[in-house]
Amino acid sequence: MEYEDFHRRSIEQPEAFWAEQAQAIHWHRQPDRILDDSHPPFRRWFVGGLTNLCHNAIDRHLDERAEQLALVTVSTETNQTREISYRQLHREVNTFAAVVRSLGVGRGDRVVIYMPNMAEAVFAMLACARIGAIHSVVFGGFAAHNLALRIDDAEPKLLICADAGMRGGKVIAYKPLVDAACAESATPPPKVLVVDRGLDPDHTMVQGRDVDYATLRAQHDGAQVDVEWLESNEPSYILYTSGTTGKPKGVQRDVGGYAVALAMSMWSIYDVRAGQAMFATSDVGWAVGHSYNVYGPLIAGATSILYEGLPTSPDPGVWWRICERYGVRTMFTAPTAIRVLKKQDDTWLKKHDLSALEYLFIAGEPLDETTSQWITEGIGKTIIDNYWQTETGWPVLALMPGIELKPVKFGSPGLPTPGYNLRVLDDRTGEDVAPGEKGVLVIVPPLPPGFMTTIWRDDARFVSSYFGHFPSLVYSSLDWAIRDADGYTFILGRTDDVINVAGHRLGTREIEESCAAHASVAEVAVVGVRDELKGQVPVVFATLKQTGHAESAAQAATGMRQQVVERLGAVARPARVYVLNALPKTRSGKLLRRSIQALAEDRDPGDLSTLDDPAALDEVRRALERGA
Ligand code: ATP
Ligand code: MG
Repeated sequence: MEYEDFHRRSIEQPEAFWAEQAQAIHWHRQPDRILDDSHPPFRRWFVGGLTNLCHNAIDRHLDERAEQLALVTVSTETNQTREISYRQLHREVNTFAAVVRSLGVGRGDRVVIYMPNMAEAVFAMLACARIGAIHSVVFGGFAAHNLALRIDDAEPKLLICADAGMRGGKVIAYKPLVDAACAESATPPPKVLVVDRGLDPDHTMVQGRDVDYATLRAQHDGAQVDVEWLESNEPSYILYTSGTTGKPKGVQRDVGGYAVALAMSMWSIYDVRAGQAMFATSDVGWAVGHSYNVYGPLIAGATSILYEGLPTSPDPGVWWRICERYGVRTMFTAPTAIRVLKKQDDTWLKKHDLSALEYLFIAGEPLDETTSQWITEGIGKTIIDNYWQTETGWPVLALMPGIELKPVKFGSPGLPTPGYNLRVLDDRTGEDVAPGEKGVLVIVPPLPPGFMTTIWRDDARFVSSYFGHFPSLVYSSLDWAIRDADGYTFILGRTDDVINVAGHRLGTREIEESCAAHASVAEVAVVGVRDELKGQVPVVFATLKQTGHAESAAQAATGMRQQVVERLGAVARPARVYVLNALPKTRSGKLLRRSIQALAEDRDPGDLSTLDDPAALDEVRRALERGA
């Protein structure tokens, strides 16, 4: 089959297309109707169908693959690896579901999960899915205040946490953060279930509220918990966006549409089928973790690998060693991780047998050409940039090797995936721009299965956040894009990040890309800073590679300026270049340009709840004070 035919059919005959895809999952009761589009921008897929994510992820596979590995968790923090078959996963999840139920949780109740990348986090999610409870996984290690905000939003009956997580060998106690969040919250959970990893022996339990998982597990071990059959459009989970542009939004997902979209994406995009292994390096607390560490691979009957630790510890070869050990076919990571590896010695890429590995998918931020080329040459595999959002739940733009692998174009996440009807509009006129011209990427409804259904308890914010930007009812998260004559889309950054220099509109991405072409540069963020004369000027913040380049900061700055002028012209020439040790990022590894820009313009840095390393922001402050 050819990509074009597949995609065209999904747009021209969405109901027929998705009805076919829906046969890949188990329905307890078949849907009455494929699509109800009578109240746009809301839509309901597979109306009346009854299904369950946990059943599709586990029970359905037991006849054929009970002894196959379902989940492998590798922690280079605790030095523990767990290999869990489908049979064992079934048992653990049933037990976990019985425990959760014994704490008074049922269908439609919310459960907040605040855990690191460990097997019990996956058990907890699937246990909730099994009984129809709505999970809200909060990235472990978020501060107590962030957790409190999410508790207030979800009003959970139960919070499940670990005693502690670890990062770079350091124990991060979670339980005191949970206690502080519960104290701050207006609607604290009546029960807290603690999975004790033995990392923080000093953690305390609140009498009457806190319960120990191991104790309850022993009581419920071997329990069988019936699957709760849910209508396709009931909520499965709530998950917050990364907060790169401001306050995170609580994305609500459905059940049936999500299962169908994931099943389709697993074979067609990621080219992973039952019995094969996929390794996504994400945290379970992010969208990638939900879709491609937990639900996607398991729905496909594949083996999923979950990793806790740094990409460089015990050494920068650790991920490739995992690929070799488990015969990983498809790996998935973020640009930030590849840039971390790029700072290290290239030889780490060559030490392991990667013969099973076919594809490395990368998503989350623009993947610059230099990084993309470096990793392509380094591992000699097909690198596929894919573009999506927490909101979409699965890729919007990608290449689809499971159908037909179109040529990779460096710098582009490729072509629209099934169900995505994309346009690039002029932000002032709302008209389509010509191929090769910049505009705002929008999605024309109906939004495909798996796409968020609304913002949790806030339909009005859903409509105003995403559909209010253009006269026609189209979805946009305000990413700035170019589509070329072959239909490949390039993402230039967010519209907030566009720099307007004397009337020339430049995407931060274009300038970053040029800076990154200078050999010693590891990572770079460009922001537009107010300027009396030109309106705005580009200002560069960069880090340099740790090995092999003994260049001074001043030499690097000159090199970056040269690259920008050569590639984009003098208009884009950076006004100032700051060389730092680290750049401020969100916990999901995205550059926090809005905060850097605010500091550079002497403004308040804004919502910092998702900031990873406050020291990096301080470094920006100090650099600005010192001057470039
Ligand atoms: P918030 O919505 O809270 O501001 P966020 O947009 O960073 O945060 P996510 O849902 O994690 O939250 O990220 C989605 C965004 O990440 C996209 O809208 C886009 O800006 C960026 N992005 C994701 N993948 C790519 C990619 N392959 N190329 C370029 N940009 C990407
Ligand atoms: Mg967003």
